[in-house]
Amino acid sequence: MLEIKNLHVNIEGEEILKGVNLEIDPSEVHAVMGPNGSGKSTLAKTLMGHPKYEITDGKIILDGEDLTDEEPDERAKAGLFLSMQYPPEVGGVSITNFLKTSVQSITGEKQNPVEFHNELKEKMEDLGIDPEFSKRNINVGFSGGEKKKSEILQLSVIDPKYAILDETDSGLDVDALQIVAKGINQFRDENKGMLLITHYKRILEYVEPDHVHVMVDGKVAKSGNKSLAKEIEDEGYEKYIN
Ligand code: ADP
Ligand code: MG
Repeated sequence: MLEIKNLHVNIEGEEILKGVNLEIDPSEVHAVMGPNGSGKSTLAKTLMGHPKYEITDGKIILDGEDLTDEEPDERAKAGLFLSMQYPPEVGGVSITNFLKTSVQSITGEKQNPVEFHNELKEKMEDLGIDPEFSKRNINVGFSGGEKKKSEILQLSVIDPKYAILDETDSGLDVDALQIVAKGINQFRDENKGMLLITHYKRILEYVEPDHVHVMVDGKVAKSGNKSLAKEIEDEGYEKYIN
């Protein structure tokens, strides 16, 4: 289980998260929705250990292991994965090499280049991504949709225990959205948990969440099932904002 307990987070001295509680069981997809600036990306980056985000109270526990003070690479080794809302460009590193290096450092096992290449090709075909794509440098000159496809490919190759997806569905055309949804649904498994941060209900038409949470002003204002997403689509966030 991924446990987020009473998480308080400051950015440059200002409190952004004000006591977030979430429990994500393996097999569950939790959707987190919320207005702009409510702290969704702050939650995602804090979970992954971004140094700018200072945890002032609370804990992050993954399968019983306290990760609150761990470095990002330790969190990745423990089974956590983050797809960033705005993934950075990494010049001079191809997707293939990046993924190979990632898998090697997370598993501690050297990958056979030929086998890795073949597996990657298979995964790309599975997801409907052109294999040529893997030769490109990470996010350099990528369109919004290509960045998100690259994130989903990472999810598929790294195959973590718990995945945090921060608006991986935002700004996609229908084809790219379907690739992202396919990646998410292929990831779903009785042993895998997901925190799916989204601004729109659209992705939830392809991916059925087990739980939906509304985040407002650094806190979970309401939790429910997928009908909550529908309610938000119809009524907006107004009634949760003080
Ligand atoms: P969301 O993802 O829900 O739109 P964010 O977590 O990105 O919200 O932002 C929450 C609040 O924290 C906002 O008021 C934002 O301005 C502030 N914030 C986020 N990141 C930073 C940062 N790196 N430096 C300063 N303020 C930040
Ligand atoms: Mg955000």
